[in-house]
Amino acid sequence: MEHNMASLVDRFGRSFPYLRLSLTEACNYRCSYCLPDGYQAEGRSRFLELDEVRRLVRGFAALGMSKIRLTGGEPTLRKDLLPIIGAVSAVPGIRRIAITTNGTLLPRHIGAWRDAGLTALNVSLDTLDPLRFHAITGHDRFAEVTEGVEMALGLGFDSVKLNAVLLRGRNDDELPAWFDYLRERDIAIRFIELMRTGDNLEFFERHHLRAEALEEQIVEAGWTLRPRAPDAGPAREYSHPDYRGRIGIIAPYSKDFCAGCNRLRVTARGDLRLCLFGDFGIGLRELLQSDDDFDALVARISTQLGLKAAGHGLHQGETGLTPHLASIGG
Ligand code: SAM
Repeated sequence: MEHNMASLVDRFGRSFPYLRLSLTEACNYRCSYCLPDGYQAEGRSRFLELDEVRRLVRGFAALGMSKIRLTGGEPTLRKDLLPIIGAVSAVPGIRRIAITTNGTLLPRHIGAWRDAGLTALNVSLDTLDPLRFHAITGHDRFAEVTEGVEMALGLGFDSVKLNAVLLRGRNDDELPAWFDYLRERDIAIRFIELMRTGDNLEFFERHHLRAEALEEQIVEAGWTLRPRAPDAGPAREYSHPDYRGRIGIIAPYSKDFCAGCNRLRVTARGDLRLCLFGDFGIGLRELLQSDDDFDALVARISTQLGLKAAGHGLHQGETGLTPHLASIGG
């Protein structure tokens, strides 16, 4: 069967070079907006195994997917993360392998992950204040995370980015500290507007802050908008001649956010999710058990893409199947 780039295009003309693959639902943090009571396992979960991941990635790559992000839960909790990175990087057509992590294990493993083929790193860091970090995540690990980020900056990654979820009253006064941080570092910080999920309604109402408020302060400080690359994430990215670093704004409630959507998601149990806030998943796992199902897998992915909706229903308060982002990887 012949497949080409055009196969990963939906009925709204959007193409999908980018897959976010969750490797586990488990997380070792207790972020107040995501898993405030920590991860609670539901029975004995069996997440996608190495061979299933390899087959899945081959299927998507045959349809033109070239960039994959490993996420979770906390993907670094996978004991077989190193062989997974190696297997994904060996799939023809995969040009970029990124990981999104809370960063705790970076000092121990980042060199080996880079050697295995990891090309980009995103680390969640909601604050530059160690005490606030402890309060937000439930863990006193600011030193390890920031040390790991410094190590990564010397390893020649295509990109090193930080993610900070904007929280009213918790970390919304740190722009001056972030400017200092960005002055000499070749790093991008993404400020992500807090999203409402099935589980966080009360927290959301207390701490949600429109990203545009912060964006105005950034523009006032002389930062200017950069053009967007075709396989880039949803961030509006700003740069400034006096700073090596860049600032991205991810505003899921803004107009046209979904029009620029270029990603698909697969959960740790092997369900294709067409939208982070969609209300259905499409089982792929049965087609990941044997290399013989390759054609059927490719056909299922391509047919299902026809069902992707134009946009999420967050404005109507519809959070879909997603109780919290650890269940699907953000
Ligand atoms: N554990 C990894 C990490 O910490 O990056 C990967 C999974 S985590 C769910 C992915 C990203 O989603 C993190 O940057 C996290 O801060 C963000 N996130 C989680 N819940 C969110 C929410 N309700 N709104 C916006 N971002 C959220």
